[in-house]
Amino acid sequence: MGDSSLTEKMDSLASDQEVVRRYLDRAEAPEQLPEAERRQLESQIRELMRVKNARLVAHYYTESSLQDLAEDSGGFVGDSLEMARFGRDCDADILMVAGVRFMGESAKILSPDKLVLMPTLEATCSLDIACPIERFASFCDEHGDRTVVVYANTSAAVKARSDWVVTSSIALDVVEHLMERGEKILWAPDKHLGAYIRKTTGADMLLWDAACIVHEEFKARGIEDMLSMYPAAAVLAHPESPDAVLEIADVVGSTTQIINAAKQLPNQDIIVATDQGIFHKLQQLSPGKRFIIAPTAGNDATCKSCAHCPWMAMNSLQALYASLLNETNEVEVESELAEQAMLPLKRMLEFAEKSKLGVKGKA
Ligand code: SF4
Repeated sequence: MGDSSLTEKMDSLASDQEVVRRYLDRAEAPEQLPEAERRQLESQIRELMRVKNARLVAHYYTESSLQDLAEDSGGFVGDSLEMARFGRDCDADILMVAGVRFMGESAKILSPDKLVLMPTLEATCSLDIACPIERFASFCDEHGDRTVVVYANTSAAVKARSDWVVTSSIALDVVEHLMERGEKILWAPDKHLGAYIRKTTGADMLLWDAACIVHEEFKARGIEDMLSMYPAAAVLAHPESPDAVLEIADVVGSTTQIINAAKQLPNQDIIVATDQGIFHKLQQLSPGKRFIIAPTAGNDATCKSCAHCPWMAMNSLQALYASLLNETNEVEVESELAEQAMLPLKRMLEFAEKSKLGVKGKA
C-alpha cells in the first residue's frame, strides 16, 4: 500500500471512530427500578401484550428482566438468527424487539404485516455505523466478481446490496458452502469475524474494516493472566473478538453456541469473552458453574463499552412499556428496500433450516 492510500485509510478509520464515538455519547443506560416498581411494570406490560396480541423477542445481551419477561410471556430470548426466525413464525400482531436497530429492521423485513416496535430506535451497533451504504456499494462495485456476504449487524440498505446475510452462528457454514462452489467472497463489516472465517476455511475473502466496540476490547494477555488464577478454566469466545483472543479460546462460537458449550464442557470455571448480558442465561442453564468475564482493555478511551454493549443497555422495561402503550418507536423499512433485503435474509434462513449447525472450536 502506497503512502497516500495508507494516509487515506488512516483518515477514514479516524473518521469512523469519531462517528462511533458521537453515537456512544448519546447511549445512556436507563435508571434501575426498585423491585416493587419493576414487578408492577412487568405485570402492566404482560397485560398490554395480552390485549394487543404482542410478543417480546429479546437478545441475550439485554438486561435480565427483559429476557425473563420475554420467556415468561410466550416470547423468545436468543441470538439474532433465532430472533429473526421466531419473529417470522409467531402469530402475534405486534412484535416487540429488545435489542439493537438492525434486529428490529430484520424483524420488519421478515414480517412486513406485523407492527414492529422497539423500546428505543436509538440503539445501534458500531458495525452498522461503520458500514454506510454509499461507501459499501462503491466497494462492492469495485469488486463485482465477488459474492457479497454481510453480517446481520448491518442496515437494511446494506443487506439489500448483498447476496447473503449471515449471523455469527451460521457464517462459517455459509462461507464453506460458497467456497465449495468456487466463489470468491467480499465480507462486511466485522473484520475479526471475517478474519476468523478466512483462517478457518481458507476461503478467498476480501474484508471490510470495522469492529464491534465490545468484543474488540478483549485482550489475550489479560485472559492468560486470568488463566494463571483459574488454571482449570475453559475459555469461550465470540468470533468478533481479536485473533489473539480466539487463538487461546477452547471454543469459538456465537452466543447460542457459547451457551451450549458451557453446558456441555466438564469445566467448572469458564472464562467468557462476550457481552456480559449473556451471563444471565449461562447461569440459568449451568447453575453449578462459575462464569468469569474475560478482562478488557481496562481504562482506555472506549471503555464505556467494556464487556457490555452500551446500545443493548438502552433497552429498558420503562421504554418497552411506553412504546407498547403508545405504539411508538415503530420500525419502518421502505417496501422496495425490504423486498430486496428479504432475498439474502431468506437465503440464510433457508440454508439454516437445511443445515445442522454446531459449535465450531477446539473443544
Ligand atoms: S455487542 Fe457489538 S456487535 Fe453487538 S450490537 Fe453491540 S456493538 Fe454491535
